[in-house]
Amino acid sequence: MSKVHFVGAGPGDKELITLKGYKLLKNADIVIYAGSLVNPELLDYCKEDCEIYNSAVMDLGEIIDVMERGVRENKEVVRLQTGDFSIYGSIREQVEELNKVDVGFDCTPGVSSFLGASSALGVEYTVPEISQSVIITRMEGRTPVPEKESIQEFAKHQTSMVIFLSVQEIEKVVERLIEGGYPEDTPVAVVYKATWPDEMALRGTLTDIAAKVRENGINKTALIMVGRFLGQDYNNSKLYDKDFVHEYRGNEDGEK
Ligand code: SAH
Repeated sequence: MSKVHFVGAGPGDKELITLKGYKLLKNADIVIYAGSLVNPELLDYCKEDCEIYNSAVMDLGEIIDVMERGVRENKEVVRLQTGDFSIYGSIREQVEELNKVDVGFDCTPGVSSFLGASSALGVEYTVPEISQSVIITRMEGRTPVPEKESIQEFAKHQTSMVIFLSVQEIEKVVERLIEGGYPEDTPVAVVYKATWPDEMALRGTLTDIAAKVRENGINKTALIMVGRFLGQDYNNSKLYDKDFVHEYRGNEDGEK
């Protein structure tokens, strides 16, 4: 019996799928893709007679039925999910259902949009001595967020933060970030449709970013990036410091 292949589609650009994901798509007999966010150009990689389903108009039961039927007919089934499925990918509930009907699966990761967004800006989330941690979170929507994971709570750390699924409520996000402890002049970026042809990146501070987002009509498919990693301060890493000796590079005395 074949298996269901979960494949991360990447953030948008059709070349940002892994080689392994591309090969799975190319061989697929059935593809179920997340039509709301996956770039449909990725489907150009599929065989002409590949059956294609858009999960945006299906419920969980329908998705599982298509997967189960395909696998029982020994077809190659690909579940193509936006970015990487481990971030807000609802893979857990699909896996639980597949387990119930004894259908196997494997996973091929993808480039998450938070990495597409840092590429769009050419920035590093982990600038030495500025920030060495990244918090990936969201504000509650129809899906609740545990209280101890509120934006205000995380804001106390003042580290690099990437906020998914929340740009439609940018004013509320900003309010909570300030309430939690980020100074008002903290740099913020909002990246809309990172790596797509119509990508848009806005930069500002907690004081003016909400107005910029509204002016540009952004209300979905965007990430809010917050923190001093976006600012002017930085320190070089020790790794490339000529006086820093490590396993692969000795100092002038040949010491390692
Ligand atoms: N699994 C996906 C996230 C799915 S949740 C991943 O790894 O990226 C959907 C949210 O992801 C959107 O509301 C938006 O906040 C973000 N998102 C997805 N693709 C994006 C893109 N290309 N640019 C900016 N944000 C994106």
